[in-house]
Amino acid sequence: MKWSFRLFTLAGTEVRVHATFLLLLLFVAGQSFLSGQGLPAALESTLFIITIFACVVLHEFGHVLAARGYGIRTPDITLLPIGGVARLERMPRKPSQELVVAICGPLVNVIIATVIYLGFGISAVLHPGYDFLKSGNFFEKLMMWNVLMVAFNLIPAFPMDGGRVLRALLAMFLEYGHATRMAASIGQGLAMVVSIYMLLNHTFQPMLLLICFFVFMAAGQEAATVTQQEVTRNLRVRDAMLTDFRSLPFESTLRDGVTLLLAGSQQDFPVLDAHGSGMQGMLTRHDLISALAEKGPGHPVVEVMRPCPASTQPASELTQALEILSASDCTALPVLDPIDGKLVGLLTTENVGETLMVRAALMKLRA
Ligand SMILES: [Zn+2]
Repeated sequence: MKWSFRLFTLAGTEVRVHATFLLLLLFVAGQSFLSGQGLPAALESTLFIITIFACVVLHEFGHVLAARGYGIRTPDITLLPIGGVARLERMPRKPSQELVVAICGPLVNVIIATVIYLGFGISAVLHPGYDFLKSGNFFEKLMMWNVLMVAFNLIPAFPMDGGRVLRALLAMFLEYGHATRMAASIGQGLAMVVSIYMLLNHTFQPMLLLICFFVFMAAGQEAATVTQQEVTRNLRVRDAMLTDFRSLPFESTLRDGVTLLLAGSQQDFPVLDAHGSGMQGMLTRHDLISALAEKGPGHPVVEVMRPCPASTQPASELTQALEILSASDCTALPVLDPIDGKLVGLLTTENVGETLMVRAALMKLRA
């Protein structure tokens, strides 16, 4: 994730923090400092927020350890102001496994709250007006926060754990893609109902509205990803790669790039390496035009191109290659021959989109 920094690595999982989370810390500390409670209150609030996020990390490790039990690794966890995001290598496709992985996060918060409840004998009731920013009652606030996290995460909508629980339950009776789309629609419906309720009752809560917006987007995203995975399943890179493309030799100048750009409809050109077979980088139309104005047509393309270190092979799975493409900064993923490393194709999102459209049309024809 962009704008995130590594904090530490625990049991093979990198814990990262997003820049916006640091802003949240500043905001909370500043707010309690300015509210006239002074420095001790500001320190206490900051300490409370940090403890809360330690709970978020533990919650995420609940998911991580459960996933590890099924042989799924988690490369990293990112802390955002709305909570943590564990990037699992893959989601377990078996509904019972997804259910366990989804539940083990909130379960950690249940354990923390129970330990505080039993250990300190604190009891309190969570209500909408509960003030987490008031000073004092550190453990009561911590217990309440963990209860809130359980409640929040069990809302049956993506990206909350409850959304995954719902999908897993539906997938026990329905086909996986169908279950995902149904769970996504339920989440989006819920977000709509809450938003409309706020509108009609004039109880405008910016934070809640933001969450509704997030839920709406995330649900659509989840459904789209699964649908794409369904269509691309069993497809190889060679089925969707671009094979008819022009490339630039290593020693080309921007003038050569312009000639190719004007000669056809291709916009981004691979720059070959010194041997003339592998790929060194990518010259995009945008970079070409801006460099042309600054440096002139005689400038070498190797100084303007973007390096594209990631690559794939014709026989690789398309789904995996698309993940590599979306994680890279390049507009196209070079497809290299596994034996001699020669550039044999380019994988671009447009071309994959066209392949999928053709495939969908043919599937309709057959049906
Ligand atoms: Zn969770």
